[in-house]
Amino acid sequence: MTSDRKLTVAVIGAGIAGLCTALEVQRDGHDVVIIEPDEAGGRQAASFGNGTWLNPGSVLPMSTPGLWKQVPGFLLDPNGPFIIRWRHLPSLAGWLIRFLQAGRTWQQIEVCAAQRYELSRTTAQDHAALAEEAGRPDLIRRNGLMFIYPGQADIDAEQRAWRIRESLGIRFRKIETAELRQQVPELGGAYTLGMRMEDGGQITDPGAYCDALFQLALRRGATHKKARATGFSFNGKSLSAVLTSAGAVPCDRAVIAAGVHARDLALKAGDDVPLISERGYHVVIPDPGFDLPTGLMPSDGKMGVIWTPQGLRLAGQVELASVDAPPNWQRAKILLNYVRRMFPALAAKADAVGNDIGSNNYWLGHRPSTPDGLPCIGQASGSPDIFHAFGHGHVGMIQGPATGRLVANLIAGRAPGYDATSFSAQRFT
Ligand SMILES: Cc1cc2nc3c(=O)[nH]c(=O)nc-3n(C[C@H](O)[C@H](O)[C@H](O)COP(=O)(O)OP(=O)(O)OC[C@H]3O[C@@H](n4cnc5c(N)ncnc54)[C@H](O)[C@@H]3O)c2cc1C
Repeated sequence: MTSDRKLTVAVIGAGIAGLCTALEVQRDGHDVVIIEPDEAGGRQAASFGNGTWLNPGSVLPMSTPGLWKQVPGFLLDPNGPFIIRWRHLPSLAGWLIRFLQAGRTWQQIEVCAAQRYELSRTTAQDHAALAEEAGRPDLIRRNGLMFIYPGQADIDAEQRAWRIRESLGIRFRKIETAELRQQVPELGGAYTLGMRMEDGGQITDPGAYCDALFQLALRRGATHKKARATGFSFNGKSLSAVLTSAGAVPCDRAVIAAGVHARDLALKAGDDVPLISERGYHVVIPDPGFDLPTGLMPSDGKMGVIWTPQGLRLAGQVELASVDAPPNWQRAKILLNYVRRMFPALAAKADAVGNDIGSNNYWLGHRPSTPDGLPCIGQASGSPDIFHAFGHGHVGMIQGPATGRLVANLIAGRAPGYDATSFSAQRFT
């Protein structure tokens, strides 16, 4: 027990952020109540259907200098990796302006990358340790990750990003054509070079992994309140309960880890955080007929191509629209175009999945995204007993374990060992 007294901590949301937090808080000897209306890591959660990449080198935010020049193209190109649904543009405009402002200069990007690296540097080993504790070491692969490129000019176009990674000490290696063919013999001729992230890894089945972490938390004494959190109740200045759709949950501390739905709760805790959904899709090609030695990302498709027990998962696309807008499965079908280029032998299977649009092989998820590419982790403005743990955008699986550790440190009043103020929600006020 590192804290003065045993606390009851209510963790709102059982995606990767909430689950990692619950387990870290338990290590400090506290009681945990997980408030989650659905399944832990179920289809409703971003933590279910993501790209599974555990890349310590995912340090660059999405908004980088010059991106604004590409926005008109994004609006017009129906087959690119990024789209804004016209109808939703007015409600997203404020977020978009902040997003573009956050990536105006490379100096901003370098600062942001160093801050993000604090949350990603040991991701694969952290997840491997958690999976081991949960009795499912098979769910984490520590076999690197690889970006693949049509040619040298495409690598050169990203030189700046590679230099930033190098300056942080992130290990990567260029893979020449012959080695690429040897490592991934199924790959067609459209991609000739690779950049391998040596310390990367993969969660083979993120939904099953979240469930394993949830079961571990329950075995260690956590309780599950199957309800939706709606607000907070106070006794004087102290938090007394989280209010839910099924009654109050008495507690001493609360952690908001509700992914894209955290915004309203954060507002009730005193922080107006610009949080939107960067909607993404996945599509699965069952029985591809081969395993991959490592997760792949084609530089033009900006999508994860990974082996999962369900088949070859293609996860990507950024679609800006409101959370409750209906899925546009054509966005998921675009992912199939890239896989046909990567693996010509899979064309017939890709066609079959393409004809089965909207089936269980298709998934839409919501990346909980702030405009500056940093999550919100820290004490809420309205109460020292409420903590934020949301807003991880494209990298929540990667940053989950470090998020859990940081929240546990903040609850215990321990210094995290690095400057975590950049993650505070107060940066938006
Ligand atoms: C297509 C795609 C590809 C991605 N690829 C990667 C990748 O390769 N690597 C990576 O690191 N990240 C990736 N991400 C991002 C990653 O999936 C997310 O950042 C991460 O899952 C967010 O986790 P979370 O716990 O914050 O939210 P979620 O997983 O969404 O969990 C939030 C939970 O809160 C619950 N909840 C909501 N409201 C309430 C409430 N009021 N009360 C109680 N509970 C509530 C929900 O039911 C849900 O279970 C990807 C995302 C997408 C969409």
